[in-house]
Amino acid sequence: MTDKYAVIGNPISHSKSPFIHSMFAQQTNQDISYEAIEAPLDGFADTIARLRAEGYKGCNVTVPFKFEAFKLATQRSGRANDANAVNTLIFEGNEILGDNTDGVGLLADIEKNVQYKLFLKDALILGAGGAAAGVMWPLFNAGVGIIVANRTLEKAQALAADFEGAGTVYAKRYEDLEGLSFDIVINATSSGLSDELPPLPDGLFKRGSLAYDMMYGKETPFLKFARAQGASVISDGLGMLVEQAATSFALWRKVRPDTKPVLEALRAL
Ligand code: NDP
Repeated sequence: MTDKYAVIGNPISHSKSPFIHSMFAQQTNQDISYEAIEAPLDGFADTIARLRAEGYKGCNVTVPFKFEAFKLATQRSGRANDANAVNTLIFEGNEILGDNTDGVGLLADIEKNVQYKLFLKDALILGAGGAAAGVMWPLFNAGVGIIVANRTLEKAQALAADFEGAGTVYAKRYEDLEGLSFDIVINATSSGLSDELPPLPDGLFKRGSLAYDMMYGKETPFLKFARAQGASVISDGLGMLVEQAATSFALWRKVRPDTKPVLEALRAL
């Protein structure tokens, strides 16, 4: 019997996840279906209840429901607890298991696909929403020093406060970045959606630096800025999307798909 999975978000029509998971399934001979489901903004829990009643085995969760998914999970992985957000749910009997694969997805993309070494680098993370929360501990544990900057300073401060006792992560406003430079600058804001750029100063990119935008599908103002400012390595977030999906797939199906042909197929579209 075909096992059912889905990605839940709002909006969701743009999602590439059904394409990615159908390629994974073909490659690994798994009999699954995977669809994109738009939940009403106040209807995430009801949507999950319906999927469970209909026998779905699990789902991915995207904007804006990752925090709600975290609360709904009855058991959470360490990665989910680090992020306070969940992007992968597994339905097992009465339990809803919650995990977060965004961080491992970003790390796999940077180290394997982009081939940029993270260890002992310093990074500036722009944004303090769910995406930033999901990647900060994995980056920190990979030996990266972190400054997090956000339009709403309090949200960046809350993320940085999580690291007290483990190390120092600084929270800053964009205007406090003047005079600083980094090996890695990651845009984890959704500013690209509205073709905007956070107010960044000149000189942020060190020689040999990586500019990474978690958005994909278009040349964002951040990527244009990074090119103009001389960042050496530039990447969008398509590889992260495929890598986080591969880890979700492996959690559900206990088989790890090869991401390379899927990323190539998406790039060719
Ligand atoms: P959230 O809504 O949780 O957070 C949005 C963040 O962007 C906040 O920090 C917000 O600042 C900031 N922001 C929004 N608009 C602007 C702007 N015009 N100028 C400056 N800052 C702005 O979203 P997520 O964190 O979940 O997602 C962020 C981005 O990452 C999205 O584009 C998403 O598509 C992408 N993403 C990509 C993934 C991938 O696999 N490639 C995985 C996850 C996310 P404030 O707090 O001040 O409102």
